[in-house]
Amino acid sequence: MESQRRHPKQFSIEFFPPKGEEGLARLRTAREELAKLSPKYVSVTFGAGGSTQEGTLETVRETLAAGLDTAPHLSCIGGSRESIRAILDQYVDMGVKRIVALRGDMPSGMREGGDFLYANELVEFIRAETGDHFHIEVAAYPEFHPQAASASADLDNFARKVKAGANAAITQYFYNLDAYLRFVEECERRGVEIPIVPGIMPITNIKQLARFSAMCGAEIPRWLRLRLEAYGDDLESLRAFGLEVTVELCRRLLDAGAPGLHFYSMNQAGTTSRIWRDLDLSAA
Ligand code: FAD
Repeated sequence: MESQRRHPKQFSIEFFPPKGEEGLARLRTAREELAKLSPKYVSVTFGAGGSTQEGTLETVRETLAAGLDTAPHLSCIGGSRESIRAILDQYVDMGVKRIVALRGDMPSGMREGGDFLYANELVEFIRAETGDHFHIEVAAYPEFHPQAASASADLDNFARKVKAGANAAITQYFYNLDAYLRFVEECERRGVEIPIVPGIMPITNIKQLARFSAMCGAEIPRWLRLRLEAYGDDLESLRAFGLEVTVELCRRLLDAGAPGLHFYSMNQAGTTSRIWRDLDLSAA
């Protein structure tokens, strides 16, 4: 973890573009509450294949106007050089300085296509088009990407994104501390020393978490799943236990030298701000 200890710790929060009036109101309430924590930056996800591109832009406009340093996510799958260039130009004009560069996933029913196959190509393109304007974050997978040919191929592919010009990485969420520590160790062996910031998914709903985990390959350890399932409809106890587990994971990560934390807020302020305050992150 030597490479990670050298970086200043930074704490950030992720939002997704809301659907409908109710979703928008929820996001605004969460944003106002979470802004009080003074995160280093907030990020806004981007739906591949065009589903929420406009939503991302609108959300980014609002968070910037609220004075929050904002990193839009940008996924390249299905996109052309022209369409990606147009989005980058827009972000430069809006004063965006940070971007999360991703391949993304093709929405079901859409055919593969476009000018980019992998995120390293997007990173290269952003650097070629905009030089050092953007601080580029990329995705990392301590438990490995579900489509990776092998663990070592995935690590090599991660290193490719760094070589292409990524400044830092945010991980997929995980509940196995060792997976992250080993991942960083393997990166160091490959000469990769950029900050690899753990992505933290608060535990509030076991069904939703199980669904996400099945899609993205993040493991819910057996002991944790069984404990969570045992709460049944007792959501209050499930959340209290989930909070305890997540705070403990964050504490152990920071003690081990992780260079910060990135919270998947799910557009809800409650759990993220509780973890933040329990760990006194604003003072860290
Ligand atoms: P890549 O780094 O391109 O990797 C994808 C797969 O291809 C991996 O298996 C990798 O091993 C392999 N690979 C990579 N490069 C090569 C290469 N050159 N040759 C051969 N194989 C290669 N999705 C969204 O749609 N919108 C979002 O806003 C979003 N935000 C995310 C934020 C974070 C922090 C994370 C961790 C994920 C996010 N995702 C998002 C999900 C992400 O888009 C998916 O996991 C997607 O399947 C992979 O994107 P990537 O950028 O990691 O791809």
